Amino acid sequence: MAAPRFFHSPLPLVGEVTLSEAEARHASNVLRLTVGAPAVLFDGQGGEAQGLITAVDKRCVAIEIIARSDSNRELPLPLEMLVALPKGDRQKTLVDGLVQLGVTRLTPLVCQRGVAQPTAAALERLERSVVESSKQCGRNQLMCISPPLTIAQVLQSSAMQSTTLSLVAHPYGPSKTLFGVASRISLQTTTARMAIGPEGGFSDAEISQWLEAGWLFVELGPRILRVEMAALQLAAWWACTAGQLSC
Ligand code: SAM
Repeated sequence: MAAPRFFHSPLPLVGEVTLSEAEARHASNVLRLTVGAPAVLFDGQGGEAQGLITAVDKRCVAIEIIARSDSNRELPLPLEMLVALPKGDRQKTLVDGLVQLGVTRLTPLVCQRGVAQPTAAALERLERSVVESSKQCGRNQLMCISPPLTIAQVLQSSAMQSTTLSLVAHPYGPSKTLFGVASRISLQTTTARMAIGPEGGFSDAEISQWLEAGWLFVELGPRILRVEMAALQLAAWWACTAGQLSC
């Protein structure tokens, strides 16, 4: 069985580290690890080390670094997801899945029909979920949670570039299938960004904003998916596509 992983930043090259209180509780109360047990440390910026537990009590756990094992488990071509956040626990489902699928950045979208406010407290919860999911899936780089943006701010902040695939998930109108969108990807494609609307969908004005800015509309089949499912389907598609492009 793989050794349990703990987040610790910054991560020194050698020596002993003391886990944060939250990580120590996880190690001692939940996993009930004891002195001598193997553990993995990661710093969220690509760094990873193998270690052994040298001290345990309820609030304090120390780990001796034995060897660095930095491993890159990121997507070969970065992906930003711009998502109108769903409510409650569904945000956690969204973040957990996006972290597992290797998404580079999550930007909460502020939309006219948005149902959840991306408050500072909500963003902090999402960041904690990113760490939890990264521990589970072996990712050493944390998915970045950006400050929330309106569509106008997204369009102002980054010009359309031929090297970036820019998609909007929309079940109606001029949308192409994923098969159709794939023909827009070339060896020059280096990144992708994908926008998902709120439960009530994008408003007509928002649809016009995306269209005028030249984003490509994509449909995900005849069924209406929940926000997080649409986001996960697109991220999974990109994880496979980017993997093939980089071979
Ligand atoms: N009633 C809304 C509408 O009419 O647009 C449905 C919104 S859906 C629950 C939330 C978001 O998920 C949509 O704005 C879209 O971005 C994405 N989505 C859901 N199902 C989709 C599909 N079949 N094709 C493309 N996008 C979809």
